[in-house]
Amino acid sequence: MRALGIDVGGTHVKVVVLEDERIVEERNAETAAEPDAVLDQIVELGRSAGRVDSIGLALPGLFDERGRAILLPNLQGDWVGRPVREPLEERVGARIRLINDGHAFALAEWTAGAGRGAANVMAIVCGTGIGGGLVLDGRLHLGAADRAGEFGHHTVVEDGPRCACGNNGCLELYAGSRTIARDAGAASFTDALARARDGSETARRAIARAGELIGLAIANVLIFVCPDRVIVGGGVAEAGPLLLEPIRKTIGARARVAPLDRIDVVAAALGPPAGAVGAALWGAAGGRDQVDDGQPALRDP
Ligand SMILES: [Zn+2]
Repeated sequence: MRALGIDVGGTHVKVVVLEDERIVEERNAETAAEPDAVLDQIVELGRSAGRVDSIGLALPGLFDERGRAILLPNLQGDWVGRPVREPLEERVGARIRLINDGHAFALAEWTAGAGRGAANVMAIVCGTGIGGGLVLDGRLHLGAADRAGEFGHHTVVEDGPRCACGNNGCLELYAGSRTIARDAGAASFTDALARARDGSETARRAIARAGELIGLAIANVLIFVCPDRVIVGGGVAEAGPLLLEPIRKTIGARARVAPLDRIDVVAAALGPPAGAVGAALWGAAGGRDQVDDGQPALRDP
């Protein structure tokens, strides 16, 4: 069985084909600047994969049960209310299963990455935006209207600037890759990371500050959920210990009531294709239909 997974992100559209949960094809392109062009990209990249048995598509934000965009703040152009799934299904002539990119990341890491074997997982993906997903008692937790996991819209500064979601002071305004780049005085996150590794104190501090705020948000959820494992991934997590150590330190300082000796905070294992892998797994499992039929979203790892 060939499972196609497409992950539309703020900077790149990533595509994988899985056979028996292994990546056999992988490609990506820079995300186009307006919605019609992005939909064209999805169709072209999808077709380039050849014959497949299922298609999963991860979107960076919120969409309704008919596959129309509600809020995709990290994509350029006006996506609000735009039908996504139906026009794509008409063009490719096949079912497409949509999944939130944070859920896709969680599903991939739990099934095939750093979350294998854990029953309860908090997975946080830090890139242009910040998303996540939860696995509770061995099942991906979708939540009401599939809206669980909006980790980036966690309030970290009560009277902070307005976020695209309508709230003020959301985590992703302070710890997203673009903010880190700006605070580091760099052109991009990649540049900020290079500077940090070259010893720039400003760049190191910008990454550490993001880590402290991500750690604060994790601690607030962690004491409530008490997961077995916390997985941190996404482009920003490529900073490795520069990000993870401030996260661990903040969790240690804040989540005093949690059994921290039983909770591992680890880097993601699958790297940049994780979202596309999760989308492919979701599509192969039958997406939401499986959940509606009362079946597990996926087998236990
Ligand atoms: Zn927000």
